[in-house]
Amino acid sequence: MMSPFIVDTRDLGRRAGMMQEKSLTFQSPQSFGTDFIQVPPGEDISIELRLECVIDGILASGVASTVASSECVRCLEPLEIEVSADFQDMYSYEPMGEETFLMDGDLLDLEPAIRDALVLALPQSPYCTEDCLGLCPVCGFEMKLDPSHGHEAIDPRWQALTGLLQEKEGSDDGSTKA
Ligand SMILES: [Zn+2]
Ligand SMILES: [Zn+2]
Repeated sequence: MMSPFIVDTRDLGRRAGMMQEKSLTFQSPQSFGTDFIQVPPGEDISIELRLECVIDGILASGVASTVASSECVRCLEPLEIEVSADFQDMYSYEPMGEETFLMDGDLLDLEPAIRDALVLALPQSPYCTEDCLGLCPVCGFEMKLDPSHGHEAIDPRWQALTGLLQEKEGSDDGSTKA
């Protein structure tokens, strides 16, 4: 299958010094990222692209931006995170080694470079807000719903007994303790 990130450079020509700027939008057919944060398939990837003819090929540089999906590391709320990454890569007309990508005639495929640049720019531990209170470590309650939420510390040796007492109380007067 052809990469959707192919750029045709025919109208740029091959004379060193020629330059062209383009604004492009691609959609990646597959998601990419890490287990924890991904750019979903079909998400728009906008690219401000600058192409410059150099001696042996074309230098492609610019900024790629998209929106990644993740969840807050503290409260697990789903997040949409705007990501952008600078890139600068050499695409050579003829094979030149591992430092450059190889062009296919007049076509250059931005996909691997753009994907790598964006993956590197994904935040490692995103959170919903700077001061997210996270979840209660005891019961998983979302702390922002009630920052005063807490549990009385109960000595584990008494816990079983307290449970028995609460059950007893509950059956005595029909009320339940909060
Ligand atoms: Zn959060
Ligand atoms: Zn709790």
